[in-house]
Amino acid sequence: MSGRVTVIGIGPGAANQITPEATVALADAQALYGYGPYLARVPTLPGQTQHPSDNREEAARAAAALRHAAEGARVALVSGGDAGVFAMAAAVCAEVEAGPPAWRALEVTVVPGITAMLAVAARVGAPLGHDFCALSLSDNLKPWDVIERRLDAAANAGFVIALYNPVSRARPWQLGKAFERLRAHLPDETPVIFGHAVGRADERMSITTIARADSAAADMATLVIVGSAQTRVIERPGRSPLVYTPRIGQEASV
Ligand code: SAH
Repeated sequence: MSGRVTVIGIGPGAANQITPEATVALADAQALYGYGPYLARVPTLPGQTQHPSDNREEAARAAAALRHAAEGARVALVSGGDAGVFAMAAAVCAEVEAGPPAWRALEVTVVPGITAMLAVAARVGAPLGHDFCALSLSDNLKPWDVIERRLDAAANAGFVIALYNPVSRARPWQLGKAFERLRAHLPDETPVIFGHAVGRADERMSITTIARADSAAADMATLVIVGSAQTRVIERPGRSPLVYTPRIGQEASV
């Protein structure tokens, strides 16, 4: 079977943060699938078709891409950031696992991209310089009490925590609750970074502390990094501060 699906991470937003591998894979596709605003960021070449879909339709989008590939097409499925981080690569795998046997014969390739937490971290220094974890605050796909347990465990273990999907219109309170939870484990001065729309025209970075962190500062396009007890802020005259977590880890003091 000649059809194939390539799941492509196109980075957080900046055109120069799409990898050369992703650019080649996009150009090779006959059909492009993805969430509308992500597809709008990639050029359509002559002969290519675009198949945009809504935000919440990941499973249906993955299945549609696989069906199209099973007909013999070279299909690209576009994800923001990295395709494997809270994104389409896992949705495709789930559909392959549950779908008709013919889908297992298809070539499936995942092309990595720069994920939001790496792009935000790079803007402010090196907050992910030592052990860290990533957590999605969306309780659409898992119960809220699981998220609370993971927040407690991560903060207690001394991890820096990258929070994806911090809020949405349907999930207004989760981030405030998460900050409340983390305050019980972390020193007041623990740095918190709000990275809004990194790589896009409306990019905004702000640095605060866990004691002062206000969930109203985040929206759907924000990646939040909560430091560990070791994370430090270096103030600099005339320049924005550097936030970093030292490479030499000490015992978590929490
Ligand atoms: N696959 C994506 C993540 C998808 S989950 C990636 O690897 O980056 C969607 C969440 O990612 C958003 O709610 C936000 O928390 C984060 N995100 C995606 N793009 C972003 C950007 N340009 N700036 C800041 N956060 C972003």
